[in-house]
Amino acid sequence: MKKHNFTSGPSILPPIVFKQAAAAVNNYNDSGLSILEISHRDKMFLDIIEGAQVLVKELYALGDDYEVLFMQGGASAQFALVPMNFLNADETASYIDTGVWSDKAIKEAKLFGNVSTAGSSKESSYRFIPKGLNVESNARYLHLTTNNTIYGSQFHDIPNSGVPLIADMSSDIFSRPWDAKRFDMIYAGAQKNAGAAGTTIVIIKKDFLHTINKRMPMIFDYRKHADNQSLYNTPSVFAVYVSYLTLQWIKAEGGLAVMGQRNSAKAALLYNEIDRNSLFSGTVTTEDRSLMNATFVLSKPELEPAFNEMIKAAGIVGLKGHRLVGGYRASMYNALPIESVQVLVAVMQAFEKSV
Ligand code: PMP
Repeated sequence: MKKHNFTSGPSILPPIVFKQAAAAVNNYNDSGLSILEISHRDKMFLDIIEGAQVLVKELYALGDDYEVLFMQGGASAQFALVPMNFLNADETASYIDTGVWSDKAIKEAKLFGNVSTAGSSKESSYRFIPKGLNVESNARYLHLTTNNTIYGSQFHDIPNSGVPLIADMSSDIFSRPWDAKRFDMIYAGAQKNAGAAGTTIVIIKKDFLHTINKRMPMIFDYRKHADNQSLYNTPSVFAVYVSYLTLQWIKAEGGLAVMGQRNSAKAALLYNEIDRNSLFSGTVTTEDRSLMNATFVLSKPELEPAFNEMIKAAGIVGLKGHRLVGGYRASMYNALPIESVQVLVAVMQAFEKSV
């Protein structure tokens, strides 16, 4: 039976990417070698990683004033590496607290310097994106999580900060056209919109990179990775290849404009049903709802087992909400076809009739 995969990540990728990645495991590009057995210094891999770096810049219309790195350790490693590289003990960084991932980033930053909270929605269970930010004018940088995977909220505008802007875009990178030039640094675990788990895309403006003035272990130093074109140590060869394939797919489909249109259409379809169907309600303020992760609950929680049965029978997987929030979460990343959302909406309508 066809599965409709609403999993939050690692998550659905385009069928062509699965096909090409599988073929490369057997025989990469007719080389007679598996992608898993080639050196990361081999020209075949250099072409892959350079091709991926070029595509990241092309999709976000970035010039040579930006570095694109493929690192390891997930976005969680970036939570620590950002302050380790950029924040000195006597400096302050501003953070916007919009959920679990922001909170983890804040905790890591406190190990290296001072943190001031520019805005937080913690008191209201992260139901909205804080407005009217309070960014310290001398802050080293402002950090935000553009899409809150667990709570289902998303920034729809890039905040004006007046200080360097750093974004964790793990769950909405490449999902819509955005002015990436406004950011001094962007990072994202690849495992949602950008490929397989195992590599983390890091985009850093060169001017900002050059403001690092600390000594630290080489493996944690962004300058070292940039100087070595992400080949300071062995990168996740296969994961970088899957990212390259995924980026090629995004470009071939029409780039970020097309991704944005499709993601808006999918989200509108589902949120309209959540708002129309009295059995369901959304958990996030309407204006801050995420186009990537729609979170909702049943108005009568006792109906959950019956709804879960219907979801399962329709081939829908990965709809369970995060353990901290409960309810349901439909993750609708780039590769999820609108047909899957139509199936989910049809199940919600059939469920309404059945109770
Ligand atoms: N930030 C966000 C927004 C996330 O969604 C996640 C993971 N889902 C993380 C950070 C942590 O990423 P990783 O597990 O790759 O460290």
